[in-house]
Parts: sequence; structure tokens; C-alpha cells
Amino acid sequence: MNIARVIVDVPSSQTNRLFDYLIPEELQSVVTVGVRVIVPFGPRKVMGFVLEKTTETNVHKLKPIQDVMDITPVITSELVEVGKWLSDTTLCFYVSAYQAMLPQVLKAKYDKELCLLAEHDSISYELQHLFAGRGIIPYEEIKQRNVAYSVIQKGVREGILEVQYNVQSKETKKRETYISPAIESQRLDEMYVDLPKQATKQKRILAHFLHNPAEIRQKELLHQLSTTRALIKTLIDKGILKETYREVYRDPYNQREYKQTTPFPLTEEQTNAIEPIHYAIHMNQHETFLLHGVTGSGKTEVYLQSIQHVLEKGKEAIVLVPEIALTPQMVERFKGRFGSRVAVLHSALSAGEKYDEWRKVLRKEVQVVVGARSAIFAPFENLGIIIIDEEHESSYKQEDYPRYHARDVAIYRGKYHQCPVVLGSATPTLESFARAKKEVYTLLSLTKRMNDASMPEVERIDMREELHAGNRSMFSRVLHEKLLDRLQKGEQSVLFLNRRGYSTFVMCRDCGHVIECPHCDIALTYHRNTERLKCHYCSYEEAMPHECPECESDSIRYFGTGTQKVEESLQQLMPEARIIRMDVDTTRRKGSHERLLTKFGNHGADILLGTQMIAKGLDFAKVTLVGVLAADSLLHLPDFRSAEKTFQLLTQVSGRAGRHKLPGEVVIQSYTPEHYSIDLASQYDYDSFFHKEMSVRKMFQYPPYYFLTLVTVSHPNHLYTMDVTQKISQLLREQLSSQSVILGPTPSPLTRIKDRYRYQCVIKYKNEPTLYKVMKRILQLYEEAMQKNDLHITIDFQPHQMM
Ligand code: ADP
Ligand code: ZN
Ligand code: ZN
Repeated sequence: MNIARVIVDVPSSQTNRLFDYLIPEELQSVVTVGVRVIVPFGPRKVMGFVLEKTTETNVHKLKPIQDVMDITPVITSELVEVGKWLSDTTLCFYVSAYQAMLPQVLKAKYDKELCLLAEHDSISYELQHLFAGRGIIPYEEIKQRNVAYSVIQKGVREGILEVQYNVQSKETKKRETYISPAIESQRLDEMYVDLPKQATKQKRILAHFLHNPAEIRQKELLHQLSTTRALIKTLIDKGILKETYREVYRDPYNQREYKQTTPFPLTEEQTNAIEPIHYAIHMNQHETFLLHGVTGSGKTEVYLQSIQHVLEKGKEAIVLVPEIALTPQMVERFKGRFGSRVAVLHSALSAGEKYDEWRKVLRKEVQVVVGARSAIFAPFENLGIIIIDEEHESSYKQEDYPRYHARDVAIYRGKYHQCPVVLGSATPTLESFARAKKEVYTLLSLTKRMNDASMPEVERIDMREELHAGNRSMFSRVLHEKLLDRLQKGEQSVLFLNRRGYSTFVMCRDCGHVIECPHCDIALTYHRNTERLKCHYCSYEEAMPHECPECESDSIRYFGTGTQKVEESLQQLMPEARIIRMDVDTTRRKGSHERLLTKFGNHGADILLGTQMIAKGLDFAKVTLVGVLAADSLLHLPDFRSAEKTFQLLTQVSGRAGRHKLPGEVVIQSYTPEHYSIDLASQYDYDSFFHKEMSVRKMFQYPPYYFLTLVTVSHPNHLYTMDVTQKISQLLREQLSSQSVILGPTPSPLTRIKDRYRYQCVIKYKNEPTLYKVMKRILQLYEEAMQKNDLHITIDFQPHQMM
């Protein structure tokens, strides 16, 4: 008996295990580990992942698998293991772990089609019968016409057939139509003669194929003969011509030419850093490296040459970069070195584009993946290195279920494949640096910038003094002067402001009433272009009121500084300056991000003004001044990492200036310039910052001295939410060791979102081996309430947002 062991798509703790199903005769060859199947489950039919195959079972009445969804596995055998581990360490359901690894297209219910890539007369009789002259058929017809899946599978393997997902995508095309004669040239000649005299247009098309019988892109044919699709269609219907489809990848990066680059001779520091990595690659040995190097010290070149080594060994590489650093410039560096061997997985791609890139990995058409967080699941089977650039970025932690950290997945996969993992940063997380100090990771350092460029000089401006001196603008006198100076010299400046510190809220000047979202405990944000107030947590919006809803005064105004407002003030201050503003509003449209940057790169503007998205990865030769408008806006968030984040951000931003021949300068404006994170960032003193911040963490019992777990409870009923959190805290106190600290229940910093109340409980611990078991028990205890009573309980074993 052939039995498949299946994880079904029914997320609940009772169903979070393998179920046995009989593999029917006709599915024997296609049902393999890693394919998705349709199985009967109770009265329903559900999707499931085949994780194992066996011949024994203790289930008496086995039900058969209904159908198979994939002709080739979508989960590799290694990723089967990764999924189990992910589920065990984040407490997510197995099925959710596997879903998280797949591109969106495979998760949603897209129509599938079977596409014929070969000529009709070259395929087997059975396939000819199935396609019946068509180039593409609905996937369901395979079953309806009783064609064996093994036939399809063989066709896919031979490259004759392809399963496609019909993704409706407006902006891109995924396949192109090709036209060729459906009959031999002699018959074609006869048809030509038979056509009525006045059918000159049809004759012209036939004449073309009499001279060039080869297939031609329909687009080109239309263009060459200035003919119409309707005419071609007529000839197809007559059986004279036929159409076939060829896939064109929707890869937006492939449409450009990348200049080929060659490896630089490495500097001494780079050589010292790369040698241990090469050794690990060569010895097939897992080791985690922390590459600590200031911006512009040549880290990326170290990555590129390490990958080179890996490719020469016939292996594959994953490179993670933060979402916002995945700029065309970044992509260019990898494509420039490795060309078409690189796939890019970026969230700005459409679902179809992402699927195309992912499939290149599955088909082994590429050996390098550059991508954001979820690219860590790229289905390579022969990994030789995993690189995480800017390892301190919090975007590597997924804040939605399953709450995994890409760094942990990288190390797990590195161990599995016996290959090195390289974490790179100018400002490593305290956790990673502490591990490197304890020699859990191997520390590699690059201390010097390329070409002996020095880090730009940083000047701190105390904005309180500006105010005392009568300057009420958001630009200090020093910054204004330096901006003018750059303008005169024809050099460029970058101005950075932190989005979170710059939201605009609406307040009544008479009574102080602030307009808040009716569903969330948060002030609404004023959007100038639409004159509307929007909630950034739910989609609620309303018109800007003319009078205060509280006291009916008409002195209701918006406060705070949005990027738009900064742009306006700046333009007023310097009317002759050309400004480019980059924020969520100006970059919403696809490609606009790239367009704005290209424009700035071509000196189409003097000042680039933007949010977080300009802090990383930009490299422009003419930028000699970087200004930070309010450095302390991050410092006051309820987050134990706020000092660390401030230090990282300031270092990152400063690195944008003076990367080339011209020396750079940085101006940091702040209301608390004496804070150690600002002070030490302005001196580029990572080591002192590390020591200072470690002592703070030790004192307040935070990571890396303690582990944290955050339990958040939410429900529409306030009392019930408090009550559940209270009970959970109680259980934790009873069941965990007395050394662990349990804080709570307390209201979450955002106490209400989308009409749901939120309470939390934090566990600080050093060693708590039963923690997962206790947490699982709590989840089971409340499972029914979660399924039937709209209760949400989330457990985060590595919280990055305490909100
Ligand atoms: P990082 O990734 O640390 O910010 P990069 O790798 O981007 O640094 O290097 C900074 C600049 O120096 C880049 O323009 C890069 O092309 C150049 N560079 C890197 N390594 C070398 C080298 N060995 N010789 C010459 N130029 C180099
Ligand atoms: Zn809201
Ligand atoms: Zn009022």
C-alpha cells in the first residue's frame, strides 16, 4: 500500500499533525514529498502538503487522495524540515509555516492552466488529443479527459508542458503569442491561390509565411505587415495558421542591461575578512560570521567575491537585504557581477513577477537570490552561503504570524547545508555583537572606508538654542547655510526626517481637543493633498472638520510636520533649490521610487528630502551634505531598543555623504543632542555605544542579558480582554520558574486598534526550558474562545515591537 502523510490546511491544534491518505493508482508517480494535494477531510475537501511517504499505517479505513495540485514539488525535502522547526520554535501551525514559504500566487486560489510549449505535431497522440489544437487549456481538463498525471509530469520534465498560474496582472505580461503556419508549405501555397482576389490582406499574411515559414511573434507580425489580429484570427480559424504561447518572464529587472563588473583586487582588510569565509565554503563547514564594517568599507565586495567562490563550487547563494535597501542600485551590483544567474525577490513586484522569480530558483535557472525577508525560504537545494546585509534591520523579523526571524532561519539552513552564514552591518545588533564577543559568531572587521575616505564630520545642533536665538523654523541656521553653500557649488544634499516623528495631527487651539480615530487609540493624521484625516492603523478616514467637535470653536488646526510641509518650508527658505521629496505618498506608484532616485542621480535636483526609505543603500557621488532634521524622534518610543535604533539610523544616514572623491559633512539637529546614542553616533564610536548600551540592558533586564516573550491578548470587550490577560499572567507565574520576571497584565502601548482592546504580558527569562510547553498549553486552553469568540492571543518569542 502506498500512503502519503499529509499536513492539512485546517489550522487548529487538533489537526496540527500528519494524516495518512491512500495514494490511488493513477496518482502513484506524481504524489511525492513536497507536492500539494486535495484530500477529503470530514465532509470537506481541503488542501494539504505531502510531507512523507510510507507503506505502513495504523489507520483502518484510509481515504484516498482526491487530486494533486502540483506536478513538481513546491517544498523541498530540506524545507519540510525547516517548516517543522519553524512551527516548533514560533508556535505556529505546520500548515502556516509551509504557506509562509510559498509565493502568494500558490497560496491564493488562482486558476491554473496547462500550457503547450512544443509544436502540436511533435507531441504524443494523447497530448494532441488533450490540447486539440489549442496552446493553452484549463488545468481541470487533465482530469476531465482522464489523462494520467504521469503523462503530464513527463511533459513538464521534458519542457514540452508547463503549468501556469493565471495571474491577472495589468502592468505586465507573462506570455507572448507566436504565430506559425499550421500546414505544410505546399498546402499553404494552394491556400494562397485559392483565396479570393480581393482578400489581399490575408494573402499578404500567407505570402509572409511562404517566404518565412518560421514562427514569429504576433506583435512583430502585426507590426511588419501592418495587419490586424482579427485577420490572423480568421486564418487560425480556417486552420491555416496556428498560435502558440511562449513564456516571457515578468522580471522587471531583466528588461535592463547591466554593465558587467569584475572583482576588485581586495584590500588587506578585505582579504583578512574573506579568508575565513572562503575556508568555510571550501571545507563545507557551517559557521556564522559577523562582518562589522563601517559604511563604504567594502562589505558588499566581500559578499560578491564570497558568492563567486560558492558558484565556482557549483553551489547557490541567498543574499538578504532590507526591503527599503533593495534599490535598483543594490540589484545592479549583483546583476552586474552575476548577470542572469540572479533572481530578485522584492515585495514591490507583482504577485506574478514574484512567482516567476521564485520559479527560476525551483527550476535551477538561477544560483543567486537577492531579496527581502521571505527570500530566506528560496528553495535552493545546494546552498553554499547565506548573507544577511544590514543584519540589524528590524524588518528581518516578521511581525505577523508566523513570527520568525530571518536570521534564525538562515542559521538553521546554514547548519543543514553545512555552509557559512555572513551577517553584515556597520551597526550590528547588540545581540549579534555580544554573540561575536562570546565567540558564538566569528567576528570579522573592516575598519577603514575605501580609498582612505574618512567618515564625514558630524556637527550636532541643539534645537533648543535655535529657539532661544529666535529661529522658529525647522532648519537651524547652520544647516541653512550649508545647504546654500552646496547649492552654490553645484553639489547635492540629502535631508532625512523620521516619518514617525513627523505625523501631523489635528488639534483645537481653544480646548486642546485632538481628533482621534474612533476605532483606535491614536490621533488621526492629516493628509494635505486630499484634505482628509486618516488612521494609520485601520483604514478609517474622514474629512478635515471646520470646527472643533468638542467646543465648536473654529480654531481647529493641524500640527506637526509632514514631509509635504517640510518641503514647502524648504522651498520658501530656498526658492531656487530643486527638491525631490521621497515618502510613501510620492513613491506609491510602481517604478516611481526608481524614477526619483535616477533623477536625483542625474543631478535633476539639488536636495533629496525623505523618510527612512532614503537612509539606506544610496550612493551618489555628488552628495556632500546630509542633514537629519529631528534626531530624537525615535528616542521617545516605548521600546527598549530605541537608543540602539537611533544610533543605527544616524550612523546609516551619515554614511550617505562623501562616499566618493568629495568630502562629506553631516548636520544632526536634535532637542537632546547630549543623549549617548546621538553623541556616540556622531563620533562613529560603535564600541563605546555597545558598552554603554549593554550596561543599560543589564540594569533593566533586557536582551541580550535576558530573553523576552510578549503575549498580547485582544478582544472587542475591554473587561474580557483584561480578564484573559490576568488569567494568563497568573498561569505563567504558577508554571514558570521563580527566576523569570513576569510583567503584566498591562495595557499595550496601543490599547485599542480597530475596535479591539489590547493587553499584554511580558516574560523576561534567562533559562526556561518548559516555556514552549506552557505556552502551548495556554493556547490550547483558549483555543475554543479563539475560534468561536473572536479572541486573539499572539505569542512572540522575539518581540521587536512592543506596541
Ligand atoms: P559597504 O558595502 O561596506 O558599504 P561597498 O562594498 O559598497 O561598501 O564599497 C564601497 C565602494 O568601494 C564601492 O563603490 C565599491 O565598488 C568600492 N570598492 C569595494 N571594494 C573595493 C576594492 N577592493 N578596491 C576598489 N574599490 C572597492
Ligand atoms: Zn483606526
Ligand atoms: Zn475645541
